[in-house]
Amino acid sequence: MPAPKKKASADSTKEGKAPAKASKSTPPLSNAQKAQNKLAKLGLRSDMDLALHLPLRYEDETQVISIHDASLRGTQVVQVEGIVSKSDIQFRPRRQLVVTITDDSGPLVMRFVNFYGSQAKQLSEGVRVRVRGELRHGFFGAEMVHPTYKVVLEGAPLPTALTPVYPAGEGLSQAYLRKAIGGALSRINWRDTLPPAMLEELKLGGFESSIRLLHNPPTDVDEYALEERSHPAWIRMKFDELLAQQLSLKRAQAARRARNASALPTIGKISRAFIKQLPFKLTGAQQRVLAEIRHDLQESFPMQRLLQGDVGSGKTVVAAVAAAQAIDSGFQAVLMAPTEILADQHFRKIAAWMEPLGVKVAWLTGSLKKKEKAEANALIESGEARLVIGTHALIQDNVQFQKLGLVIVDEQHRFGVGQRLALRNKARDADADISAMPSATQTVPHQLMMSATPIPRTLAMTYYADLEVSVIDELPPGRTPIVTRTIDQNRREEVIARVHANALEGRQVYWVCPLIEESEALQLQTATDTYSMLAEALPDLRIGLVHGRLKQAEKQDVMDAFSRGEIHVLVATTVIEVGVDVPNASLMVIEHAERFGLSQLHQLRGRVGRGAAASACILLYQSPLGGTAKQRLMTMRETADGFEIARRDLEIRGPGEFLGARQSGEALLRFADLATDQWLVEKARNLAQTLLQNEDAIVDAHLQRWLGGKEDFLKV
Ligand code: ADP
Ligand code: MG
Repeated sequence: MPAPKKKASADSTKEGKAPAKASKSTPPLSNAQKAQNKLAKLGLRSDMDLALHLPLRYEDETQVISIHDASLRGTQVVQVEGIVSKSDIQFRPRRQLVVTITDDSGPLVMRFVNFYGSQAKQLSEGVRVRVRGELRHGFFGAEMVHPTYKVVLEGAPLPTALTPVYPAGEGLSQAYLRKAIGGALSRINWRDTLPPAMLEELKLGGFESSIRLLHNPPTDVDEYALEERSHPAWIRMKFDELLAQQLSLKRAQAARRARNASALPTIGKISRAFIKQLPFKLTGAQQRVLAEIRHDLQESFPMQRLLQGDVGSGKTVVAAVAAAQAIDSGFQAVLMAPTEILADQHFRKIAAWMEPLGVKVAWLTGSLKKKEKAEANALIESGEARLVIGTHALIQDNVQFQKLGLVIVDEQHRFGVGQRLALRNKARDADADISAMPSATQTVPHQLMMSATPIPRTLAMTYYADLEVSVIDELPPGRTPIVTRTIDQNRREEVIARVHANALEGRQVYWVCPLIEESEALQLQTATDTYSMLAEALPDLRIGLVHGRLKQAEKQDVMDAFSRGEIHVLVATTVIEVGVDVPNASLMVIEHAERFGLSQLHQLRGRVGRGAAASACILLYQSPLGGTAKQRLMTMRETADGFEIARRDLEIRGPGEFLGARQSGEALLRFADLATDQWLVEKARNLAQTLLQNEDAIVDAHLQRWLGGKEDFLKV
């Protein structure tokens, strides 16, 4: 793993040299250097990097069987040995090298469609070869197509260990990797980071012996356990990796606690009045998470809390109450949302709640006119605006807060780490580097992040940076469940009739157009076509169209008209995915539902079922459905529970893809698999706790070995 400090200094020595000159005078790379570069591309720089480059799988080259026996083994990969009895380049049906070898039990044909001239020469009559591959019964008897082979002398010893197969980059051969790794293993200082007594208690094997076994498994190893990664040697690797992660999370947490934030201790007039004038009572779950947040805000170290709650669970109002506490305590609060539509909706709703209480709410998005922006900035800078709501525009340099105490980020997974940091750093000097990590002495605001894409708790705890998690696990009362149906799109007529009936009952409908990832233009085209199709089929209804290419004001007009009930059917691209709240809408039609991901479908479906009317979601699909698409649609039909959906999504996609590379920290877990290794996470967490109390040296050594310079990522 790279040590960034070293790298930085290596770079800086190059500075000042004219790049053109440098490149001219650079001698051509030697083969060794080229190989080094290729290793570096795989992240393999130090000996320990190489040692931890563990095999993907193994091949058994420890046995040779007779060609006759091999021909009885079906589709297994087998190894045989024989002497070349015939070698030809044939031209029909296409150019190919055909080599026959024979052992005591009979002949075998090897066929190479791609081959070098040197290969043809090498495989000449009388040469002894060892061949590995899958034996098939071709027209001319037993044959192997493109087997791996090597020329051997009679009696050449067989390997005594399984042969590892490593993840390799382009131009890196297995043989080269094996040699490089072998070299590294012989040079490493193998001190175990964990003392023997501890290993014994945890029933873990030694670090060195585990690594050596994984690179060179003995012939009597339990191959199944090796492939399954349940072998004790793998367990030690997984445990170490998880331990490093837990240690670094806990250290980050300690660092955060050592940082300053302004305590927001007052639950005063505004907080109380705000809750009193809400048209509903907070649910038990809302009250519980609110208590957690209120407690954190009273501390003088920064809160960093993720508020999770299923679509429609009522996160916004909780955030607003948190903001009220900041305001009561004499600070400003800011709420950032990923889209203008959503920011606008928050603004209207929250301003309508707040302004009657005398709280000035400012609004800032990219689409404001210059003059409006300047006005908003002035309100923010003077402190007249106590609450600020907007989009990414809030991060811009010229936005300065008078006294920012609380940062709220809605749909946080839609923002990058850098964007969240930048907003948080708004509480600091205007000219500080806004994307940098704050130093220990700087004051940072409290942070509340919200997400309706529920991340299973275990995943949140292991993958996310130092983060407390609050969960709203209850929907407001009076919601009727949404009935979900999957319908083949050739039955579209029936669906249109249903839309009509629905509208006649005074209910509104969303019609979501297919996601076309490769082309925004095409997506737009489809939306317009669908709009015309529906307008024609339903002439007595008012149809609206909203998509990403509309100007903000136009989008807003359409959304407003829909909110007011003036539009019956809203044809939309996925711009309505997040957060839009129109309780009278009770039917959601999603076209080409098979193209959407599970969480997206769940989000979209969550746009209905917000009022008291019975709601439905129709997933139109095009058959035939692929395996995972079928699984996704079935999941949607079977459950409306966002957490259950997230769990299945995780199952279908695996954690890396589930979180997106940006959030998973470049797959920080290489060996442990959260689906099967949860028990190890618990163990690692417990040990981390103990080590951090009184074993600093162990902690340092372990983190150095496993994370090298990657730790900073976890602190965001
Ligand atoms: P989400 O968690 O998806 O962001 P919202 O905050 O948009 O959900 O809330 C969804 C809807 O539920 C809004 O119309 C909101 O006003 C309403 N709501 C929130 N809390 C309650 C409650 N305790 N009782 C009734 N309705 C509520
Ligand atoms: Mg929301």
